[in-house]
This record gives sequence, C-alpha cells and structure tokens, in this order.
Amino acid sequence: MWHKFFDQFEFLSELMQKFDLLCLKTESDEMPADVVQSTEEGIRLFYVPSLLKKQDDETVCKDQTVASQSKVILYIDFNGFLPEGIFYRLVVRLLQWSQNRKGYEPRLFYQRAKLFVDESHEMIVRILPEKRSCIEVTIKLATVESCSDEEDEEDDVELDPATCKMLWNLLDEHLQYLGRNWMKRISYGFYIPCKFCKNTDCLKLERCIAAKKCVLCNETHKGMRIKRIKYLFGECRTKTEPLLLSNAGQESPKGKKRKNEKERRQHKKQKVSGITINDFKSMLLVVSDYWKKHGNISMLKVLLRQFKCKVGVGEIEKKDDVISLFELLIGSGDCSCEEFSVIFEAVKICGLDGVYRKIKQIESFDSFPFKDSISTFSVYRRKLIKFGKNLKEESIQKIVFFHQDLNVHDVDKWHLILALEDKGIIKDDERSMNDFVKSLRKIGLNNDADILEKPL
Ligand SMILES: [Zn+2]
Repeated sequence: MWHKFFDQFEFLSELMQKFDLLCLKTESDEMPADVVQSTEEGIRLFYVPSLLKKQDDETVCKDQTVASQSKVILYIDFNGFLPEGIFYRLVVRLLQWSQNRKGYEPRLFYQRAKLFVDESHEMIVRILPEKRSCIEVTIKLATVESCSDEEDEEDDVELDPATCKMLWNLLDEHLQYLGRNWMKRISYGFYIPCKFCKNTDCLKLERCIAAKKCVLCNETHKGMRIKRIKYLFGECRTKTEPLLLSNAGQESPKGKKRKNEKERRQHKKQKVSGITINDFKSMLLVVSDYWKKHGNISMLKVLLRQFKCKVGVGEIEKKDDVISLFELLIGSGDCSCEEFSVIFEAVKICGLDGVYRKIKQIESFDSFPFKDSISTFSVYRRKLIKFGKNLKEESIQKIVFFHQDLNVHDVDKWHLILALEDKGIIKDDERSMNDFVKSLRKIGLNNDADILEKPL
C-alpha cells in the first residue's frame, strides 16, 4: 500500500496515528525472535484495524459459552448512525490503551477486537452484525485453565465492579473525544441487553443504575431485575465495598470477603507504585487543607461534574468538603492509592499547584514527578474553570439578568455555572457552547466569550 509513497512514509504514518487510524505495535513477549530483532533494527509494526477483511472462518473467535456471571454485555447504540470510521478509531485508541497495560497482545478480527484489560479481565468490542449502528462490548473474566487441586473461590466468577466502571468511563471518554474531534453528529448511549424485546436501545445503563430494583422493558413493559448491573456499574457498589477512607459500618459477609480481597490486591499494588495507603491519605488531607485555604469547593464541584454519570450530580452537590468529593471518585474506581492522577489534575486545573511543595514533604512523594499533562478532564470542563476564574461580579449580574429562567439570586460564579449546566444552557456540545458564547457577546461580555472560544 505504501510503496508508492515510501519517501513520505514518516509523514503519512504520523498523520495516520494522529487521526487514530493506526497505532504502533509495541514489543511483546509473544513476538517471535526474528520479529523482535527486526523491531530492534528499526522496523516497526502497526495495527490498522480498518484494513482487516472479513474471513470465512469467522467462527474462530466466537466465544465459548461462559457462565453469565463471568461476563457482562453492554451495547453502545448510535441511534441508527455509526460510521465505521468511528468504530476503527475507537479500536485504535483502545489498542493503545491496552498495550500500555502490558498484557497479552490484542487480537484483531474483522470489525472486532479482543483486548487485555488486566490479569483478570478482558474486553471484546465488535460491531453488532445484526445491527450495524451498535457496538457490542463484552467485559469478561480472563480465560483461565482450571486446575482441580485448587478450589476456585466462589467470588472469583464475578467481575470486579471497579473494572466495569473504569471500562464504561474509558469507552465513554474515547467516544466523547471522537465525537468532539471527528464526527460532531454522532450520538450514542450505553444500554444493557433487554431479555424481553432484544432491542439494543431499550434499557439505558444510567436508567438501570438509577432504578430501585427493576426496570421496565420499553416494548413489553415487563420488569427486569437489575441488581447485578447496579452492583457492577452503579453507586450501590460503595455500599458493599466500603470506601478507602471511610470506615463504613454494616457489611455483608460477602462484602467483607470482597474487602479483604481488595485490600490484598491493594497491598500488592502498593509495592508497585511505592505509595502506601497512609501516604495517599496524608496527601489527600494536605490537598484538602490547602484547598480550604486557597481554593473554592464549588469550583471543584464544577470540575468533578466530569464524573456526573458515574457518581451522580446529586451526590456531588451533597458533599461539602474536598475529601468527600474525592471519596466519590474512589468509590467509582476513578481514584485510588495506585492511580490518583485525577487529584493532581484537579489541583493543576484549579490553579492550586502551590500544594505540591507541601505534598513533597510526605515520604512517598519526595521525588514524585508532578506532571503538567491533563488527560482525565475534557477541554469543555477545563474551559468552564477558566471561564469561572475570570468571571467578574458585573458579568455574573448581566448573565443572571439575561437568563432569567435560571431563577437564581445572589449567586457566586461557580453556582452560576452549576445553574447554567443544570438548565442545559451550557453543555459539552459545540452548538450549545456557540449559542452561549453568542449570548455573552450580545450583552457585551466579549472577554468572557473569548475565554470559552479560544483554545486552552
Ligand atoms: Zn425491552
């Protein structure tokens, strides 16, 4: 394919990587020796999912029936419109992510990819053959050879809720990114399979999580129990698995068992990252104290709405200190003593990086490399913070006057932003933001409009 353009190969391959059309294959243990040698000589291998052709023996990768408890299926339904390009770009981004986790090599097939998630989980994404505007995601336990001398614990057949939530978030973030950058018109939702009508857009995941015990099929109006979905993706997880920082009371025996398992895993992780739970807690306390003195809690709430689908806007609203807010993220699996970059990103975005000096006094952090890069928070969220920081009292009054349906009085800038979001006047889509920017210009707030319009 490339021979005609060989002298431009560098440029073209970089371009294709930039456009998420291919990704570089990293070296792995599975590579034959001669391939490893050729990569050492500077020959690179790429994954290009969009070039895979349909094979006749497509059954090769068909999953053997596995116990339903060791897998969960989600549909990402695109409302009848899923350009293949979006699927391939998503796969490329997931390939990159999966390779960084240093497990087995990704397995690619025609419109399907099987990816390593962690030692216990894997994920299969594919375009649903019977409905091409839908991506089916299967999260399942990694296939293990069962050894008879070692009795499997019963718990081992269930997926880890933290992993399920993490993957949901990962898919959502990548799709949001792709939507923002490549295809503004896509709209999608996450659904669970409905056992009554079999539609891929019947039971929305958020709806299941919000429901008490069961949800009704849109077509047959029969109720489906969603306890397991709530456990895997919803907030109820925090009830059976107490958060890291709060020593919550009641636990079911199962919950206790899980907790022990989690602690054991966390203990293992501590060695890897070199940060103990106690140092992690100390760091959070330092951040919290610093935030009280120099920051604003409502500003943090605006930022953490990034996670609203997973922790709920109401939950964020209820909290009134930094630790409880981050505890929400610990509960949703977005922050832990192993992976806490979200805290430092929040600190950075909110302009409180003066706290780094204090954090460095904690042993585990004395030579910690604080990075400037932001990968968790969307451009939209970051712009809102920048917008809020610059908002003057006079501008607030004008905006409140202009948007009288906001129905707010004497608000500070952060509550104004929260109210604008609640009313849907601003949201993470280009059209709403363009409208809002226009409305700002109409009332002479050009500086504020510029902040939202200019790149960060
Ligand atoms: Zn249904």
